[in-house]
Amino acid sequence: MNDEVIITCAVTGSGDTVGVHPAIPVTPEEIANAAIEAARAGAAIAHIHVRDVETGRGNRDRALFREAVERVRDSNTDVVINLTTGMGGDYIPSEADPAVAAPGADYARPEERVLHVEELRPEICSLDCGSMNFGPALMLNTEDHLRVMAEHIKNCGVKPEIEAFDLSHIHQAVKMSREGAIPGKLYVQFVMGVKNAMPVDKETFDFYVQTVKRLAPDAEWCGAGIGPGQIMLNEWAIAAGGHTRTGLEDNLRIDRNTMAPSNAALVKRAADLCEKYERPVATWQQAREILELRPA
Ligand code: MG
Repeated sequence: MNDEVIITCAVTGSGDTVGVHPAIPVTPEEIANAAIEAARAGAAIAHIHVRDVETGRGNRDRALFREAVERVRDSNTDVVINLTTGMGGDYIPSEADPAVAAPGADYARPEERVLHVEELRPEICSLDCGSMNFGPALMLNTEDHLRVMAEHIKNCGVKPEIEAFDLSHIHQAVKMSREGAIPGKLYVQFVMGVKNAMPVDKETFDFYVQTVKRLAPDAEWCGAGIGPGQIMLNEWAIAAGGHTRTGLEDNLRIDRNTMAPSNAALVKRAADLCEKYERPVATWQQAREILELRPA
């Protein structure tokens, strides 16, 4: 068990939260500033999506990623940058012909989904290791697509953060790790509380932890929860020896009735839990060592 807890802050995501919460970062500058503030509050890793500046909707324009990443790198924080590769994996069947995607779907070739990672070379990028219902849509990642993405990620020396929204995603990642498609020790993030996917459930969480420890004993793992599940996953993960994720991508509220003032406030809440369990918050450099990230 690690002593240090790596706190990741997922600062904006791609959900329909703009206008629902007053402080969702939209422009690359706002996204970078949120990452920097989160880093100063104790986050070792900033997980970054970008949004269309006009509409606020999730986007995967490389120029937007470039500006956000450059602004974080030009700051005087040395936070670990983690870019999403989730965009381009959302399928919505149209009513008339389910074989044709409905408007609003964002389904792309796997090579396209990692172009920003190849260009910007963050230390970490996400890799969604399977398929499932995601709200009203499908998160659709065939094994072939996963393998193409993993190959590109491996070739540019970026560490994939395995997004495990389901038990099968853990098994998929372990298989690819044993085959060498995912090099180094696995870094698995359990995500619970996505609508129509795995709910926030303590026994399932415990089984995830046992499964990772059994199949990949040297793996590092992280717990993330959606909405009111965020604070629960923070506490379960910290208590059980893992790392944890917070931020406005996953949850907008600091308590049942109050919007979280900022990403940094959510990081502070997670850091307070670390104190409760007498585990130090990992620095940026400790996170690099624990996760065996490539030298920058
Ligand atoms: Mg994300």
